[in-house]
Amino acid sequence: MAQHYDLIAIGGGSGGLSVVERAARHGARCALIEAARLGGTCVNVGCVPKKVMWYAAHLAHALDDAPGYGFRLDYFGFDWQKLKLARDRLVSDINEWYLGYLAEAGVTLIRGLARFADAHTLAVGGERYSADHIVIATGGRPQVPDVPGARFGITSDGFFELDACPARVAIVGSGYIAVELAGMLHALGAEVTLLVRKDQVLRSFDAMLRQQLLERLREDGITVLTHTQVRAVARLASGALSLHCEGPGSAPNVNAVLWAIGREPNTDALDLPVAGVTLNPNGSIPTDPYQNTNVPGIYAIGDVTERFHLTPVAIAAGRRLADRLFGGQPERHLPYANIPTVVFTHPPIGAVGLTEEEARRQYGDAVRIYQTRFRPMYHAFTVRQPQTVMKLVCIGPEEKIVGCHLIGEGVDEMLQGFAVAIRMGATKRDFDDTVAIHPTSAEELVTMR
Ligand code: FAD
Ligand code: NDP
Repeated sequence: MAQHYDLIAIGGGSGGLSVVERAARHGARCALIEAARLGGTCVNVGCVPKKVMWYAAHLAHALDDAPGYGFRLDYFGFDWQKLKLARDRLVSDINEWYLGYLAEAGVTLIRGLARFADAHTLAVGGERYSADHIVIATGGRPQVPDVPGARFGITSDGFFELDACPARVAIVGSGYIAVELAGMLHALGAEVTLLVRKDQVLRSFDAMLRQQLLERLREDGITVLTHTQVRAVARLASGALSLHCEGPGSAPNVNAVLWAIGREPNTDALDLPVAGVTLNPNGSIPTDPYQNTNVPGIYAIGDVTERFHLTPVAIAAGRRLADRLFGGQPERHLPYANIPTVVFTHPPIGAVGLTEEEARRQYGDAVRIYQTRFRPMYHAFTVRQPQTVMKLVCIGPEEKIVGCHLIGEGVDEMLQGFAVAIRMGATKRDFDDTVAIHPTSAEELVTMR
């Protein structure tokens, strides 16, 4: 006989952990099935270890900047191993912390790989578990291209296993992971070549951000080869890797190749046809605005769906689903508009709302753009001189702000508050009427002409 629950989540990442915890707090009897480490992508091979590496890279830049402020430094290099050990400890502490999180909420943790036995029953090893509600939160995994020698490369998962900084790295891709890891590896001592198959990085972002980032990457000393497709990778007798590319530039031989060409959903092991759940052509699970799949009682949240692949999105979707199912809030769901996002480059990027191109497509001549570019005061004495650029996209006579696009020192911490204002419908006048905080870079957002 299957053990029965009110709700079972498959996947102990950002989404699964959040939906069971909130549902249990509403009084539901919940279980969570996880095949690997608790915390999922974000904790183990994503946001958390990535942000540690970003901080390290940030410090490397600060060391370069310090002499401009009068510091005389004796610099003895960087101990990658020491940082990796500390980072791995932080991650295992979080894994451990989640055990308490589930126990405290009264959620049963089931270890193993789940697959559907029918629409209400899951098989894990030899056991069966049934539930009124099943939430699929199985996330995704890095994609590897189908080219000869692809196995010689690593993905972002492999990046977190590196015991040393590779001297020369080729990063293939143009999304979040490609540009973030390019910046970190470069700052920590690697010679980095970024291989981009089209003309730009960060395709879905505002053109201003795409252009500025490309300039910053190049100014920093990262080689960016656009219109370049990797056709094969070979290992040379020396141990180095050589890339056979199609495109105008030629890639140097490297010590590591990192594939950062996107992620694919974890749906193949779930036996979804048994439950009758339909899939998109790329294997992700289509859902309606309430996270319902086509099968009543089966839901999908987070990276396994086709929408924004960000930790807070998976968490928000999971919590709201639990509120809807067990918290007496029948209309509760996550609207997927105005989701703020930060790309942890050097300097970082922050964006929320419509790009200028999207706004012009939707609102035509009713769009008004405000943009400013300046050198932040911090860089008055530094050798590096990265500019900060900010853009506000406004619509209509009241100049409602529908987009905010930032690149520069500190914008990662700046965006959250502005995202609240924009979500609440702020106008340019509201920004202008807000007294500035001086001297900051953020004040430029409320003083733009
Ligand atoms: P996941 O966190 O992937 O969790 C899915 C879980 O399901 C996994 O633990 C997996 O083991 C388990 N599982 C899969 N199949 C089964 C099965 N059949 N049975 C049992 N268990 C199963 N987002 C941000 O917001 N900010 C960032 O800075 C950021 N940085 C990132 C950096 C990198 C390198 C990467 C790869 C991602 C980053 N993300 C970031 C994205 C973020 O990590 C994901 O959006 C988030 O983890 C998605 O959560 P999820 O619950 O949908 O899936
Ligand atoms: P992305 O989807 O962001 O970008 C991958 C890009 O690589 C594609 O958009 C495409 O761009 C390019 N590409 C695809 N196939 C190939 C190919 N065969 N050869 C060369 N280039 C190719 O994927 P990532 O893997 O970077 O990240 C996955 C997701 O994880 C992100 O979308 C984001 O949601 C999340 N994430 C969030 C972070 C954050 O919040 N800071 C950090 C890291 C990840 P084009 O078509 O333009 O060539």
